[in-house]
Amino acid sequence: MALPNYAFFKGKIVPYSEAKVGVMTHTLHYGTGVFGGIRGYWNEDEEQLFVFRPDDHFRRFLDSAGLLCMEFRYSESDLTRILFELLRVENFRTNCYIRPLAYFSDEIIGVRLHDLNPEIAIISIPFGSYVDDEEGLHITVSSWRRIDDNMIPARGKITGAYVNSAFAKTDAQRSGFGEALVLNQNGHISEGSAENFFMIRRGVAVTPPVTDNILEGITRRTIITLLRDELRLEVVERPIDRTEIYLAEEAFLCGTGVQIAAIAKIDHRRIGTGKMGAITGRLRKLYFDVVCGRVSKYIDWCSPVYQRAGAAGKK
Ligand code: PMP
Repeated sequence: MALPNYAFFKGKIVPYSEAKVGVMTHTLHYGTGVFGGIRGYWNEDEEQLFVFRPDDHFRRFLDSAGLLCMEFRYSESDLTRILFELLRVENFRTNCYIRPLAYFSDEIIGVRLHDLNPEIAIISIPFGSYVDDEEGLHITVSSWRRIDDNMIPARGKITGAYVNSAFAKTDAQRSGFGEALVLNQNGHISEGSAENFFMIRRGVAVTPPVTDNILEGITRRTIITLLRDELRLEVVERPIDRTEIYLAEEAFLCGTGVQIAAIAKIDHRRIGTGKMGAITGRLRKLYFDVVCGRVSKYIDWCSPVYQRAGAAGKK
């Protein structure tokens, strides 16, 4: 994976090689950081880089930071402005992935959230697919359980919490599966290691509620809107039993990284026909058109990084 050329670090954009922290850094030891994952889509026809829902991503980022008692002078629009400066310096003409990170820079011993100094860093790299088999994943229900809200809140994108995801993902992949689906403490589906879950059952789209220890995904919200308003499907947020997914007509994972990945099999059981379902297929096509800025109705979700075509100084 290519390294970034630049980073936003300690309040300014610097060469990536200068964005370094000491080994005593609090967050490195205690997992007391939060992060984000945002995508930029290159639209060749318009020669434009569109960042998908940056304000919504930075709102969740700042909310996650708030859970860890981090206070910043930046608003979500300040962070979007800084991000766009960084992307212009990187001068991407390709799809990219953006990673904001908030961390405690203190080089001290002592686990806590208060009386510490939070910092924000942002980097971006060119990026393609997150999983290999987006049109037909074979996944497994993990033996690891999802962290509970009263342990580490899953609705915050907290660095330390990703150890839970890493356990699930590694065991799934070492057993030959592409991804893991994790149950919460009550045995209901919560989410994938880095994705939200949807299934289609009896023609209704069903996804776990935000109270089932899931990250409140921006893609999940986007898909709920597209399913309801464009595909005219009923969408229900409710707890999902493990065996319901074995009986689903279709199922898919969604997230900024994975985008929309069809699930072909779960635990060696075929979902529907065992191939990407019709609804998932239509939704994926629509989603890619939307994120690339090709659907005028949803253009407000896509923030252009470069000056408009025809404007002087366009990159
Ligand atoms: N759940 C988890 C655990 C994740 O890490 C992600 C990726 N950020 C998602 C869901 C999907 O969230 P989003 O659509 O906002 O990327």
